[in-house]
Amino acid sequence: MNIAQIKNILYSGIVGDAIGVPFEFAKRDSYYVDTMESGGTWEQPAGSWSDDTSFTLPLMSNLVEGGDYEQLMQKFEEYMYDNQFTPNNIAFGIGQTCAKAIRNWSINHYPALECGDPSEFANGNGALMRLAPLAIDLRNESDLKKRLALTKNYTTLTHRHPRAIMASYIYLEILHSLLNGKNLTDTLQVLPNEFRGAVDAIEWKEFDYYQAIFQPGFKDRSRDNIKSTGYVVDTLLAVVWTVLNSKSINEAIILAVNLGEDTDTIASIAGTMASCQYLSDRVDSNWVGQLQNLPLLQGIIDPFAKIEAK
Ligand SMILES: [Mg+2]
Repeated sequence: MNIAQIKNILYSGIVGDAIGVPFEFAKRDSYYVDTMESGGTWEQPAGSWSDDTSFTLPLMSNLVEGGDYEQLMQKFEEYMYDNQFTPNNIAFGIGQTCAKAIRNWSINHYPALECGDPSEFANGNGALMRLAPLAIDLRNESDLKKRLALTKNYTTLTHRHPRAIMASYIYLEILHSLLNGKNLTDTLQVLPNEFRGAVDAIEWKEFDYYQAIFQPGFKDRSRDNIKSTGYVVDTLLAVVWTVLNSKSINEAIILAVNLGEDTDTIASIAGTMASCQYLSDRVDSNWVGQLQNLPLLQGIIDPFAKIEAK
């Protein structure tokens, strides 16, 4: 993969996030959006990206620096308490589970890998949304168990329930396969067998929640039967369904963002997955040009892409 492709993957996620921001929590079909808009839920200017991107940027910085998990939690803290990694110098819309993990680290002084909430009720999409740089970093790692172990650790910084960890496994292994030249349909056929035996029993028990993704008819499921909440199961199903039903990155972003509810995160992850599926496609450069705080984005993305391109 070259520098331009890596940058495109990252900007596709950020564009999805930013187009979704004004419509986060909006009911499905109460609006239609296919461009950068201002206002809405958070009353931010057009092109404002949210916590999805603000948690992804520290991961990129940390990978470039070779930082450990504690240093990554420190960066998350700088986001939440000092407005670092933000589009307009203000942190908004941080999910409860992520906020709790950061408090566990900075106030309660938990070790980074024990900061995540292990409760069944802490299964939002807050870990999933920030992990794309890890998939890029691991794309040439051929040891499945090693990839899973790292995916688990990076997830547990904020989300420690096995269902959230299983979601990260599925998401990152899909990206790994796409970045190695397979398409999504073929990937979905082989993934369950690859997981069997490699995933710990406690996480494997959660695989049932995601079973639908791997059924042959999933692509043809009606839109009415696709939920778009921030629950990690709903999010991952919505993202895979969106990418299966899109022929380009832009199309995936627009399809996802109009599903309603957790628009920004679902569009961000769908944009990311679509850009890994369509490696020669490019996200609309007009959208990229409208993103807030481009100097900050470039300052973090450019060195990351340069180091990762091999
Ligand atoms: Mg968000």
